[in-house]
Amino acid sequence: MSSPEDFHTASSKVYISYDPANLPAHPGENWTRFVCISDTHSHTFIVPSGDVLLHSGDLSRLGREDEMRVTVEWLRSLEHPVKIIIAGNHDLPLHREWYERSYYRFHDKKRSPSEVRNLVDNKENRNRGLIYLQDEKYTFRTKEGGREWSVYGSPWQPYYGGWAFNYLPEEAPARVAAIPEVDILLTHGPPHNILDTTLTKVHAGCPALLAHLSEMKRPPLLHVFGHIHEAHGAVRHRWLQAKVESSSSNAEGTIPPTFVPRETIMVNAANQPLGHQAFVGGQRIPCGGPGFQPVIVDLLNSAM
Ligand SMILES: [Zn+2]
Repeated sequence: MSSPEDFHTASSKVYISYDPANLPAHPGENWTRFVCISDTHSHTFIVPSGDVLLHSGDLSRLGREDEMRVTVEWLRSLEHPVKIIIAGNHDLPLHREWYERSYYRFHDKKRSPSEVRNLVDNKENRNRGLIYLQDEKYTFRTKEGGREWSVYGSPWQPYYGGWAFNYLPEEAPARVAAIPEVDILLTHGPPHNILDTTLTKVHAGCPALLAHLSEMKRPPLLHVFGHIHEAHGAVRHRWLQAKVESSSSNAEGTIPPTFVPRETIMVNAANQPLGHQAFVGGQRIPCGGPGFQPVIVDLLNSAM
Protein backbone atom coordinates (compact mmCIF):
# COMPACT_ATOMS: atom_id res chain seq x y z
CA MET A 1 0.00 0.00 0.00
CA SER A 2 2.86 2.36 0.81
CA SER A 3 5.99 2.82 -1.34
CA PRO A 4 9.55 3.83 -0.31
CA GLU A 5 9.06 7.27 -1.88
CA ASP A 6 6.10 8.02 0.41
CA PHE A 7 6.76 10.01 3.57
CA HIS A 8 4.98 11.02 6.76
CA THR A 9 5.54 13.84 9.24
CA ALA A 10 3.63 14.73 12.42
CA SER A 11 1.22 16.82 10.36
CA SER A 12 1.30 15.22 6.91
CA LYS A 13 1.13 11.91 5.05
CA VAL A 14 2.23 11.88 1.41
CA TYR A 15 1.58 9.03 -1.04
CA ILE A 16 3.28 9.12 -4.44
CA SER A 17 2.88 5.51 -5.56
CA TYR A 18 0.06 3.22 -4.44
CA ASP A 19 -2.39 0.56 -5.57
CA PRO A 20 -5.45 2.46 -6.86
CA ALA A 21 -7.64 -0.51 -5.88
CA ASN A 22 -6.34 -0.42 -2.30
CA LEU A 23 -5.91 3.24 -1.40
CA PRO A 24 -4.30 4.36 1.86
CA ALA A 25 -7.10 4.97 4.37
CA HIS A 26 -8.19 8.57 5.04
CA PRO A 27 -6.59 9.37 8.42
CA GLY A 28 -9.78 10.73 9.96
CA GLU A 29 -11.84 13.82 10.64
CA ASN A 30 -8.94 15.89 12.01
CA TRP A 31 -7.24 15.59 8.64
CA THR A 32 -7.92 16.88 5.12
CA ARG A 33 -7.05 14.79 2.08
CA PHE A 34 -5.70 16.78 -0.90
CA VAL A 35 -5.39 14.94 -4.20
CA CYS A 36 -2.88 16.66 -6.49
CA ILE A 37 -2.93 16.41 -10.29
CA SER A 38 -1.38 18.48 -13.09
CA ASP A 39 -0.57 18.46 -16.81
CA THR A 40 -3.51 16.25 -17.71
CA HIS A 41 -3.68 17.78 -21.22
CA SER A 42 -7.31 16.67 -21.83
CA HIS A 43 -6.63 13.07 -20.82
CA THR A 44 -9.01 11.58 -18.28
CA PHE A 45 -8.30 8.83 -15.76
CA ILE A 46 -9.36 7.50 -12.37
CA VAL A 47 -8.51 9.86 -9.51
CA PRO A 48 -8.54 8.82 -5.83
CA SER A 49 -11.35 10.39 -3.84
CA GLY A 50 -10.53 13.02 -1.23
CA ASP A 51 -11.67 16.28 0.32
CA VAL A 52 -9.93 18.64 -2.13
CA LEU A 53 -8.68 18.20 -5.70
CA LEU A 54 -5.82 20.49 -6.79
CA HIS A 55 -4.91 20.84 -10.51
CA SER A 56 -1.74 22.81 -11.31
CA GLY A 57 -2.36 23.62 -14.96
CA ASP A 58 -2.05 22.38 -18.53
CA LEU A 59 -5.69 21.46 -18.44
CA SER A 60 -5.63 20.91 -22.21
CA ARG A 61 -3.34 20.19 -25.17
CA LEU A 62 -3.59 23.64 -26.78
CA GLY A 63 -6.60 25.25 -25.10
CA ARG A 64 -9.18 24.59 -27.84
CA GLU A 65 -12.83 24.68 -26.74
CA ASP A 66 -13.36 20.95 -27.43
CA GLU A 67 -10.26 19.99 -25.43
CA MET A 68 -11.23 22.22 -22.50
CA ARG A 69 -14.77 20.81 -22.54
CA VAL A 70 -13.39 17.26 -22.07
CA THR A 71 -11.34 18.38 -19.05
CA VAL A 72 -14.13 20.38 -17.41
CA GLU A 73 -16.69 17.58 -17.81
CA TRP A 74 -14.21 15.13 -16.29
CA LEU A 75 -13.38 17.42 -13.36
CA ARG A 76 -17.06 18.10 -12.71
CA SER A 77 -17.70 14.36 -12.57
CA LEU A 78 -15.14 13.86 -9.77
CA GLU A 79 -16.65 13.72 -6.30
CA HIS A 80 -14.19 15.96 -4.38
CA PRO A 81 -16.32 18.67 -2.71
CA VAL A 82 -13.71 21.36 -3.55
CA LYS A 83 -11.67 21.42 -6.78
CA ILE A 84 -9.16 24.21 -7.38
CA ILE A 85 -7.68 24.54 -10.88
CA ILE A 86 -5.25 26.84 -12.67
CA ALA A 87 -4.02 27.21 -16.27
CA GLY A 88 -0.61 26.35 -17.69
CA ASN A 89 1.44 27.29 -20.74
CA HIS A 90 -0.63 24.96 -22.97
CA ASP A 91 -4.00 26.54 -22.09
CA LEU A 92 -3.38 29.22 -24.71
CA PRO A 93 -6.58 31.32 -24.92
CA LEU A 94 -6.70 31.69 -21.11
CA HIS A 95 -3.75 34.11 -21.48
CA ARG A 96 -5.93 36.47 -23.42
CA GLU A 97 -3.58 39.38 -24.27
CA TRP A 98 -0.80 37.01 -25.32
CA TYR A 99 -3.24 34.87 -27.36
CA GLU A 100 -4.52 37.87 -29.33
CA ARG A 101 -0.93 38.44 -30.52
CA SER A 102 0.31 34.87 -30.84
CA TYR A 103 -2.59 32.52 -31.64
CA TYR A 104 -1.47 32.00 -35.28
CA ARG A 105 1.70 30.24 -34.10
CA PHE A 106 -0.37 27.40 -32.60
CA HIS A 107 -3.92 27.48 -34.03
CA ASP A 108 -5.09 27.40 -37.64
CA LYS A 109 -7.93 29.71 -36.69
CA LYS A 110 -8.44 32.03 -33.78
CA ARG A 111 -10.48 30.56 -30.91
CA SER A 112 -12.66 32.63 -28.61
CA PRO A 113 -10.75 33.48 -25.39
CA SER A 114 -14.02 34.44 -23.66
CA GLU A 115 -15.62 31.11 -24.55
CA VAL A 116 -12.63 29.13 -23.25
CA ARG A 117 -12.50 31.23 -20.08
CA ASN A 118 -16.23 30.71 -19.59
CA LEU A 119 -15.77 26.94 -19.81
CA VAL A 120 -13.40 26.88 -16.82
CA ASP A 121 -14.80 29.83 -14.89
CA ASN A 122 -18.58 30.00 -14.53
CA LYS A 123 -21.33 30.02 -11.92
CA GLU A 124 -22.37 26.40 -12.49
CA ASN A 125 -18.75 25.21 -11.94
CA ARG A 126 -18.47 27.31 -8.76
CA ASN A 127 -21.78 25.90 -7.47
CA ARG A 128 -20.25 22.45 -7.92
CA GLY A 129 -17.10 23.49 -6.04
CA LEU A 130 -14.93 23.81 -9.18
CA ILE A 131 -12.90 27.01 -8.78
CA TYR A 132 -10.58 28.49 -11.44
CA LEU A 133 -7.85 30.77 -10.10
CA GLN A 134 -5.70 33.07 -12.25
CA ASP A 135 -3.45 35.20 -10.01
CA GLU A 136 -6.08 35.00 -7.28
CA LYS A 137 -6.49 33.92 -3.68
CA TYR A 138 -9.43 31.87 -2.46
CA THR A 139 -10.44 30.53 0.94
CA PHE A 140 -12.61 27.50 1.62
CA ARG A 141 -13.74 24.97 4.20
CA THR A 142 -14.50 21.37 3.31
CA LYS A 143 -17.20 21.17 5.95
CA GLU A 144 -19.19 23.61 8.07
CA GLY A 145 -17.20 24.72 11.10
CA GLY A 146 -14.08 23.02 9.70
CA ARG A 147 -10.68 24.60 9.17
CA GLU A 148 -10.46 27.45 6.72
CA TRP A 149 -7.74 26.90 4.09
CA SER A 150 -6.28 29.65 1.94
CA VAL A 151 -5.00 28.95 -1.57
CA TYR A 152 -3.41 31.06 -4.32
CA GLY A 153 -3.18 30.06 -7.97
CA SER A 154 -0.68 31.35 -10.56
CA PRO A 155 -0.33 29.97 -14.12
CA TRP A 156 3.04 31.64 -14.85
CA GLN A 157 6.43 30.05 -15.54
CA PRO A 158 9.89 31.10 -16.83
CA TYR A 159 10.15 31.85 -20.56
CA TYR A 160 10.49 28.78 -22.76
CA GLY A 161 9.58 28.81 -26.42
CA GLY A 162 7.17 31.74 -26.17
CA TRP A 163 4.14 29.91 -24.77
CA ALA A 164 1.25 31.31 -22.75
CA PHE A 165 1.97 32.74 -19.27
CA ASN A 166 5.77 32.86 -19.89
CA TYR A 167 7.84 35.52 -18.13
CA LEU A 168 11.35 36.75 -18.91
CA PRO A 169 14.02 36.57 -16.14
CA GLU A 170 13.80 40.34 -15.62
CA GLU A 171 10.01 40.11 -15.19
CA ALA A 172 10.21 37.23 -12.69
CA PRO A 173 10.65 39.15 -9.39
CA ALA A 174 7.59 41.35 -9.97
CA ARG A 175 5.53 38.39 -11.16
CA VAL A 176 6.26 36.19 -8.13
CA ALA A 177 5.98 39.12 -5.68
CA ALA A 178 2.21 38.95 -6.27
CA ILE A 179 2.10 35.60 -4.46
CA PRO A 180 0.87 36.14 -0.87
CA GLU A 181 1.37 33.94 2.20
CA VAL A 182 -1.22 31.16 1.99
CA ASP A 183 -1.66 27.60 3.22
CA ILE A 184 -1.61 26.11 -0.27
CA LEU A 185 0.12 27.43 -3.36
CA LEU A 186 -0.57 26.29 -6.91
CA THR A 187 1.84 27.42 -9.63
CA HIS A 188 2.23 25.82 -13.04
CA GLY A 189 6.04 25.84 -12.92
CA PRO A 190 8.29 24.59 -10.09
CA PRO A 191 10.63 26.69 -7.95
CA HIS A 192 14.29 26.38 -8.91
CA ASN A 193 16.08 23.17 -7.93
CA ILE A 194 12.98 21.43 -6.55
CA LEU A 195 11.54 18.60 -8.68
CA ASP A 196 12.49 20.67 -11.75
CA THR A 197 15.14 18.58 -13.56
CA THR A 198 14.40 18.17 -17.27
CA LEU A 199 15.36 15.26 -19.52
CA THR A 200 18.43 17.27 -20.55
CA LYS A 201 19.42 17.68 -16.85
CA VAL A 202 18.56 21.37 -16.73
CA HIS A 203 16.98 22.85 -13.59
CA ALA A 204 14.09 24.63 -15.28
CA GLY A 205 12.39 25.96 -12.13
CA CYS A 206 12.18 29.65 -11.29
CA PRO A 207 14.93 31.12 -9.03
CA ALA A 208 12.81 34.19 -8.23
CA LEU A 209 9.95 31.98 -7.06
CA LEU A 210 12.27 30.04 -4.74
CA ALA A 211 13.72 33.30 -3.37
CA HIS A 212 10.26 34.77 -2.79
CA LEU A 213 9.07 31.69 -0.87
CA SER A 214 12.28 31.57 1.19
CA GLU A 215 11.71 35.16 2.31
CA MET A 216 8.21 34.47 3.58
CA LYS A 217 7.68 34.39 7.33
CA ARG A 218 5.13 31.71 6.66
CA PRO A 219 5.84 29.77 3.45
CA PRO A 220 3.00 27.50 2.24
CA LEU A 221 2.33 24.16 3.93
CA LEU A 222 1.81 22.64 0.48
CA HIS A 223 3.07 23.85 -2.92
CA VAL A 224 1.76 21.98 -5.95
CA PHE A 225 3.13 22.48 -9.48
CA GLY A 226 3.79 20.46 -12.65
CA HIS A 227 5.11 21.60 -16.07
CA ILE A 228 8.31 19.50 -15.95
CA HIS A 229 6.53 16.17 -16.41
CA GLU A 230 9.67 14.06 -16.06
CA ALA A 231 10.28 15.36 -12.50
CA HIS A 232 7.02 14.00 -11.03
CA GLY A 233 7.28 13.36 -7.28
CA ALA A 234 7.08 14.94 -3.83
CA VAL A 235 9.62 16.09 -1.23
CA ARG A 236 9.75 17.86 2.15
CA HIS A 237 11.55 21.14 1.69
CA ARG A 238 13.06 22.58 4.87
CA TRP A 239 13.74 26.30 4.58
CA LEU A 240 17.40 26.77 5.43
CA GLN A 241 17.02 29.77 7.68
CA ALA A 242 14.34 29.45 10.30
CA LYS A 243 12.37 32.66 10.14
CA VAL A 244 12.69 34.96 13.11
CA GLU A 245 9.69 36.65 14.70
CA SER A 246 10.81 40.22 15.36
CA SER A 247 12.05 40.84 18.89
CA SER A 248 10.10 43.17 21.14
CA SER A 249 10.54 44.57 24.63
CA ASN A 250 8.60 44.77 27.87
CA ALA A 251 9.32 46.05 31.40
CA GLU A 252 11.92 43.30 31.97
CA GLY A 253 13.82 44.15 28.79
CA THR A 254 14.02 42.75 25.30
CA ILE A 255 12.17 39.50 24.62
CA PRO A 256 14.45 37.28 22.52
CA PRO A 257 13.22 36.47 19.02
CA THR A 258 11.47 33.15 18.48
CA PHE A 259 12.65 30.80 15.77
CA VAL A 260 9.87 29.27 13.75
CA PRO A 261 11.10 26.28 11.74
CA ARG A 262 9.16 25.88 8.53
CA GLU A 263 8.88 23.28 5.87
CA THR A 264 6.81 22.99 2.73
CA ILE A 265 5.58 19.82 1.10
CA MET A 266 6.57 20.26 -2.54
CA VAL A 267 4.63 18.24 -5.12
CA ASN A 268 5.33 17.97 -8.84
CA ALA A 269 1.98 16.43 -9.75
CA ALA A 270 2.45 16.15 -13.54
CA ASN A 271 0.42 13.16 -14.73
CA GLN A 272 1.32 13.01 -18.43
CA PRO A 273 4.32 10.62 -18.63
CA LEU A 274 7.57 11.87 -20.12
CA GLY A 275 11.14 10.58 -20.09
CA HIS A 276 12.47 7.05 -19.73
CA GLN A 277 9.88 6.37 -16.98
CA ALA A 278 7.13 6.89 -19.57
CA PHE A 279 7.68 3.41 -21.03
CA VAL A 280 7.51 0.00 -19.41
CA GLY A 281 8.37 -3.02 -21.58
CA GLY A 282 8.10 -0.86 -24.71
CA GLN A 283 4.57 0.19 -23.75
CA ARG A 284 3.71 3.83 -23.10
CA ILE A 285 2.29 4.42 -19.63
CA PRO A 286 -1.11 6.14 -19.77
CA CYS A 287 -1.69 9.58 -18.24
CA GLY A 288 -1.95 9.18 -14.45
CA GLY A 289 -0.44 5.66 -14.68
CA PRO A 290 2.42 4.08 -12.66
CA GLY A 291 5.12 6.64 -11.82
CA PHE A 292 2.75 9.49 -12.72
CA GLN A 293 -0.15 8.88 -10.35
CA PRO A 294 -2.08 11.64 -8.60
CA VAL A 295 -0.19 12.51 -5.39
CA ILE A 296 -2.21 12.15 -2.18
CA VAL A 297 -1.34 14.62 0.60
CA ASP A 298 -3.13 14.33 3.95
CA LEU A 299 -2.68 17.42 6.15
CA LEU A 300 -3.56 17.71 9.81
CA ASN A 301 -6.27 20.39 10.13
CA SER A 302 -4.37 22.04 13.00
CA ALA A 303 -1.16 22.41 10.90
CA MET A 304 -0.20 26.10 10.78
ZN1 LIG B 1 2.35 19.97 -19.44
